[in-house]
Amino acid sequence: MSHPLLMIPGPVELSAAVCAAAAEPPLSHTSPPFIARFAGALRAMRTLWRVGLEHQPFIVAGSGTLAMEMAVANTLEPGQRAIVADTGYFSRRMAEILARRSVSVQRVGGRLLEGGMPAVSPQALIEAIERADGPVHAVFITHVDTSTGVRCDVRALAAAVRAVSSEVIIVVDGVCSVGGEVLDQEGWDLDVVLTASQKALSAPPGLALLVASPRVFAARERLTVPPPLLFDLLSWLPVHQSYEKGRPAYFATPATSLVSALHTSLEEIISEGIDLAVARHARSAEAMRRAWSVLGLRLVAEQESCAANTLSALWLPEGVDGTFPAKVAARGVTVAGGLHPELLLKGPYLRVGHLGWVTSQPERLLHTVRAVGDALIDSGTPVDPDAAVAAASAVLNLS
Ligand SMILES: *Cc1c(COP(=O)(O)O)cnc(C)c1O
Repeated sequence: MSHPLLMIPGPVELSAAVCAAAAEPPLSHTSPPFIARFAGALRAMRTLWRVGLEHQPFIVAGSGTLAMEMAVANTLEPGQRAIVADTGYFSRRMAEILARRSVSVQRVGGRLLEGGMPAVSPQALIEAIERADGPVHAVFITHVDTSTGVRCDVRALAAAVRAVSSEVIIVVDGVCSVGGEVLDQEGWDLDVVLTASQKALSAPPGLALLVASPRVFAARERLTVPPPLLFDLLSWLPVHQSYEKGRPAYFATPATSLVSALHTSLEEIISEGIDLAVARHARSAEAMRRAWSVLGLRLVAEQESCAANTLSALWLPEGVDGTFPAKVAARGVTVAGGLHPELLLKGPYLRVGHLGWVTSQPERLLHTVRAVGDALIDSGTPVDPDAAVAAASAVLNLS
């Protein structure tokens, strides 16, 4: 590999075509080639998120956190009530964003059990809605929390919420899931599903993406305290509608190079087919989990059924410390350390991304397994990296 392999949960490895698109001289935001790419990216989002013309996709310069801010600022105002399903650091970030908007927030779950971090159950969510001191206006679910590797069953959680209310706004932080996990915004009746360009969509960092339902626009219209101008979906709506119809418009300059790269990446996913892309993530995750098990690394997620397909969060063995990612980096692979403060109190842990385009590159996945295995040996843990690589290869059908 000519560069250190980027195996953190975003930014991720990119295809050569996506890198080339990002490196082209910038286009004018009103030029026909840019209009075609922006429109193509918006249409591709409808396919990936599984929504029709009633829903509206948005692409705004910023990171995933901007999309989180926009989801909150356009649906809730001070004094309203929200529930956050807590599966880690990013759920808590959402709670912090809500608290700063003076929304009354209650977190459900988020406690590390003996066996690991659990997902939030539909029963726990419904009990929280029923026990709340007043009407709940919105529920926030992190599909995959990148700090714990825990995946919530969004379909079951949303169905449980809809069984008690057709009004509640359901927001899904899909930053570590869109493009890598099964997700159906319209079919599951979700109001906002948001992500960022640098995760499973395999584009460079710098774009916030979200799709909003008609319920979101109704909530936005009712707000008495409007969002800041840049965060306001109503600032962006005419521009996005116009581009999707093939006409330029201006509110604030789009990140033309990033949109070009995103367009290339989304076209790659769509030409493969979203179902196949998601299945590829499931197979890669299975391969990585077999390898981790051979290396004696235990998942942070309480159960394999709630372990994400987009990354692995793994406890490090006794005697291995927080310098472990540097030992893996010395072998040409960049992985991440722990992120959730409460988990770090228990001990150091490791996060390895296996999301996006790289899941179509089995030799990079196996190289990662070998680097982690060799680094464990460097750290004084006797393991068998060959056996781990063989276990992963068998799942990837490479043996
Ligand atoms: C990465 C991530 C975010 C934050 O995205 P940024 O682009 O870093 O702002 C939010 N939620 C989840 C689940 C993430 O993985």
